[in-house]
Amino acid sequence: MEKRNQLYEGKAKKVFETDNPEILMVSYKDDATAFNGLKKGTIAGKGVINNKMSNILMQKLESQGIPTHFIEELNDRETLVKKVTILPLEVIIRNIAAGSFSKNYGVPEGKVFNSPTIEFSYKNDELGDPLCNSYHAVALGLCSKEEIETVKTYAFKINELLKDFWSKCGVTLVDFKIEFGRLSDGTIILADEISPDTCRLWDSKTGEKLDKDRFRRDLGGVEDAYNEVMKRLNENI
Ligand code: UDP
Repeated sequence: MEKRNQLYEGKAKKVFETDNPEILMVSYKDDATAFNGLKKGTIAGKGVINNKMSNILMQKLESQGIPTHFIEELNDRETLVKKVTILPLEVIIRNIAAGSFSKNYGVPEGKVFNSPTIEFSYKNDELGDPLCNSYHAVALGLCSKEEIETVKTYAFKINELLKDFWSKCGVTLVDFKIEFGRLSDGTIILADEISPDTCRLWDSKTGEKLDKDRFRRDLGGVEDAYNEVMKRLNENI
């Protein structure tokens, strides 16, 4: 597989074309941003961890019936993925109140929900990724009614699988953001990444934060936290 033109450079990843029009190459960077790009920094080694973690988790999900974009890990930072058209929706699942949910609804961080919640944000940096519901998503033409139903079904199933898996690692899955894409034949698959950048992961015993909140909130020990969750994952695959 030959690496060709860079298609796109995002906040945490670069995406390249390959000699196969159906396949892209993703390259993970150590750059970190928060608050819609207002806070910028570097987390040494993050790209390597996010690449490996996302690939391990996507393969686990795939083996449990969730279609994903994962094809092949090439090296520490680079992975081949299926080319999709990303649905411009951030899909957020929560098991425990934290972050914007706690702020918006006045619920203390750490409140465990009886059942998980789902929410959508319209991916649009200029508008600051506004919240939307499934009717808004369809009205805005972001996806079809059938597609949003598929997304919901997959998202809750992904939550159950990831929650069980992380609990075996002594890690509580608080919440996470995922993105889906459409293959050229219209099939909806899981795309983007699953990593400490996109999930809240708390040590099950101590409640210590092992994710990007350490960077967002200047808690220190950012690299150590990423290394710790990666170590726990490696010990449990
Ligand atoms: N999240 C993300 N990208 C975003 C916004 C949120 O990956 O642009 C993840 C975040 O890491 C957390 C979950 O989605 O695991 C819920 O985030 P929340 O809505 O609480 O926003 P935040 O407090 O991070 O601004």
